[in-house]
Amino acid sequence: KLHNQVEDAKGNIRVFCRCRPLSKSESSTGCSTVVDFDTASNGELGILNSGSTKKTFKFDRVFTPNDNQVDVFSQASPLVTSVLDGYNVCIFAYGQTGTGKTFTMEGTEGNRGVNYRTLEELFKIAKERIDTFTYDISVSVLEVYNEQIRDLLTTSSSSSKKLEIKQASEGHHNIPGLVEAKVENIQQVWNVLRAGSSARAVGSNNVNEHSSRSHCMLSIMVRAKNLINGECTRSKLWLVDLAGSERLGKTEAQGERLKEAQNINRSLSALGDVISALANKSSHIPYRNSKLTHLLQDSLGGDSKTLMFVQISPSEHDLSETLSSLNFATRVR
Ligand code: ADP
Ligand code: MG
Repeated sequence: KLHNQVEDAKGNIRVFCRCRPLSKSESSTGCSTVVDFDTASNGELGILNSGSTKKTFKFDRVFTPNDNQVDVFSQASPLVTSVLDGYNVCIFAYGQTGTGKTFTMEGTEGNRGVNYRTLEELFKIAKERIDTFTYDISVSVLEVYNEQIRDLLTTSSSSSKKLEIKQASEGHHNIPGLVEAKVENIQQVWNVLRAGSSARAVGSNNVNEHSSRSHCMLSIMVRAKNLINGECTRSKLWLVDLAGSERLGKTEAQGERLKEAQNINRSLSALGDVISALANKSSHIPYRNSKLTHLLQDSLGGDSKTLMFVQISPSEHDLSETLSSLNFATRVR
């Protein structure tokens, strides 16, 4: 069971690598693949660098373009059980824009991703435990753009109000004013997720571009009551679709775009720093260096469990970004 493996020597951080298929246009232009999956079944991924040399990266799991949403979720779902057992969990997708972060987390209507499947699983297990536990599940959806937090579920005109993170008690952060939508069934979840996605589009002239430059974060709060001994626990699950990790092209490096890029860079580096500090059991964990890590603080470190998807493209044209993502992932592992 993942649960046990997580507690083994590796600590509580696991890294899965997922490679998307070549797109239609890449295939039709005869684009070649630099990824080799020969040893994918033992978690290894080969990258063919300039034809001759092969560099190998090791992960807890490698998903090839043939693995579907069900395959991926089946490996992530033990973490969902952990949430109902009282653990804080964080699952996030890292990678260059266009590598499938949103596909993995959100998915599509006919091919739903980790977010929806997670909630579906939470309700399923909660139902199985109905004689011994009651669970209260609520969801918040927010976005971090240029180091500002925006509530994607708020309906009031206060949506422009700046949200701040407050420490409520040791290990408990909250965001005063953030909408927490109580959800009782999967249909309500779907509605909430859809409301979040459409709010994301408001005020941006290019939705895809905007979403690749902001972190989209879903927070699921689970309050459990043990009906046998009366014990109450609270746990939080973060599901995060990170901003694209690609570096700027020379021509883009100015104005608003430059500022966005600097903020993305800063928060992704902060995330890498936090996770590698945790992995190295460092005494100081620099959570406060970005809104992203500050938000995730309760679900990174301590006895919480973290899963990172490093998303990559198979295409030769993306080789340098692919290597940079794989190096990031290796650093945190
Ligand atoms: P990102 O969020 O990282 O920018 P997307 O999730 O938007 O990337 O994926 C880019 C495109 O590739 C989308 O059209 C998506 O549906 C497709 N795609 C990504 N991963 C897969 C996959 N594993 N199988 C099939 N299509 C995928
Ligand atoms: Mg995306």
